[in-house]
Amino acid sequence: MKFLRVGVVGAGQLGRMLALAGYPLGVHCSFLDTGADAPGAQVAPILVGALEDAALLAELASQSDVLTFDWENISGKALAPLQKLTAIRPPPAALEVSQDRLQEKSLFSRLQIPIAAHAPVDSKEQLMTAGRKLGIPGILKTRRMGYDGKGQFLIAHAGELDAAWDSIGGSGLIYERFQAFSREISIVGARSVTGEIVYYPLSSNSHAGGILRHGIAPFANAGLERSARRYLKRVMSALDYVGVLAIEFFVVEGRLIANEMAPRVHNSGHWTIEGCVTSQFENHLRAICGMPLGSTRALGHTAMINFLGQMPSRERLLSIDGLAFHDYGKDPRPGRKLGHCTILKSRAKERDLALRDALKLIKWT
Ligand code: AMP
Repeated sequence: MKFLRVGVVGAGQLGRMLALAGYPLGVHCSFLDTGADAPGAQVAPILVGALEDAALLAELASQSDVLTFDWENISGKALAPLQKLTAIRPPPAALEVSQDRLQEKSLFSRLQIPIAAHAPVDSKEQLMTAGRKLGIPGILKTRRMGYDGKGQFLIAHAGELDAAWDSIGGSGLIYERFQAFSREISIVGARSVTGEIVYYPLSSNSHAGGILRHGIAPFANAGLERSARRYLKRVMSALDYVGVLAIEFFVVEGRLIANEMAPRVHNSGHWTIEGCVTSQFENHLRAICGMPLGSTRALGHTAMINFLGQMPSRERLLSIDGLAFHDYGKDPRPGRKLGHCTILKSRAKERDLALRDALKLIKWT
């Protein structure tokens, strides 16, 4: 049987895990990214060049049955000509919304998904007004290209407004009221070309410095799960979405407040590789290739821990029963996501004990 060809813009760890999930299905990925040593390029072919290079994008599109992304910041202008060459999934409109925090919040709000009070900020005066009207504490964020806590400034009291402006001030910002959340959770789901939707169990995520450190799943809370599914479905249906989509939420006084969405496989869904019947990576490929979606049933209780800045000892971690180790093949750099591990146990209590043991072996730098 002829294999299906998927072109992936961006060859980071997400692309790499997509490619690895593709092989058993007869789906072959190839990439476009800036470096021949990118994580994805270590497991599948790559075109090397700028991610928005028109000729290289056209080459990738014309050699692929479908085009997808592990990096969502590619411009609508760069994508438009490719639509004549091949199918683009998820739809470019979904990428465009997720590239701008303000547009994303407008979509959530139009779909009656609760969000934090916020205001666009393009000048220092607007920041002062936003602080006065929405209240402090709050977070000043860049509307575009901010991720993993980059391009953010937490304003704890009025005296820090100036420092925030000096640090990231300019046009194209957003000020959000600080959410005193009890936890952060996310939902990951997939929608097929025929509109079928599958949802993974919720994951409860611990961040520090704006970056995901570790998470546990399934996070069992029937009420929050119902709301998260309803909101994910609204976004997917509104965008006529195909592929995996993730939404991150704050839990505030028992209610969900949407923070942001990612039109792709997501770090908080890495646990699904070992923890579910079908991983988020496989379901993304199934969805964009027009295949039926796979079961999202959890196989037990999992914890996922990111390796940031430096790799831990593989040997010591592998001595923990039920632990799977993932090395993305990247050079260490402070704060960089280099790999992760997932612990799968049949009981939540055993998972919690193993998580505690694993955390002792991991240092984030
Ligand atoms: P983001 O880049 O928007 O996902 O933010 C990264 C992390 O910063 C989140 O996961 C939260 O831990 C924190 N954060 C972002 N926005 C807010 C907010 N409005 N209130 C409280 N914490 C926030």
